[in-house]
Amino acid sequence: MKLSLDFQKIECSKCGGVRILASPCPECGARAPKGEVNRFVVSRREGLRLVDAAISKLEAHGKERDEPTPDDLIACLLRILEAIPTFVRAPTSDENVTELAGSIVELQSVRDRLEAMAGLRPGIGMRVAKIESARRLERVWELYRTALSADTIVEAQTSASRAQDTMDSAGEPIQSAAELRALSDILGTTERRFQNACSLP
Ligand SMILES: [Zn+2]
Repeated sequence: MKLSLDFQKIECSKCGGVRILASPCPECGARAPKGEVNRFVVSRREGLRLVDAAISKLEAHGKERDEPTPDDLIACLLRILEAIPTFVRAPTSDENVTELAGSIVELQSVRDRLEAMAGLRPGIGMRVAKIESARRLERVWELYRTALSADTIVEAQTSASRAQDTMDSAGEPIQSAAELRALSDILGTTERRFQNACSLP
């Protein structure tokens, strides 16, 4: 996802360079005057406060009984990735706040359901992998959240790029578990074939 965040900029009164409103000058280090406000940053932070409040009010819906699949995790991620840029365009819009909060709660509820099934047989290995992938996706949101509340472009870029890296690695546990399962299936049949070949009439 390409995250583009607006930061109000201003000319530094000390060196004439460009600095971000309410942040120190990157050229000369001059600090922003007290009380200076960057309305884009303030608005995103206000929006995030509303998202947090909405998340705490939304109850994870535990009605679904089926075990979440890797596709369910992908659907959760896509919903979050769609909700973030919309939120950025109008961070305090009720609709955007509700959708972003809803997308995060959906991911949490998928992870909750997987954790509740953690010890059930069969498929423990794959379930542990899905839980780990779900946790990584939650971490993706935390990192984007940090990017959205950042004071400066550099801070925002750092968090957004860590979010991207985490997203890239989120599927690895499931992939490894799938490969292991495929391997154990092959070994299982090989063993049976071997037994069949050796059994005398
Ligand atoms: Zn300066």
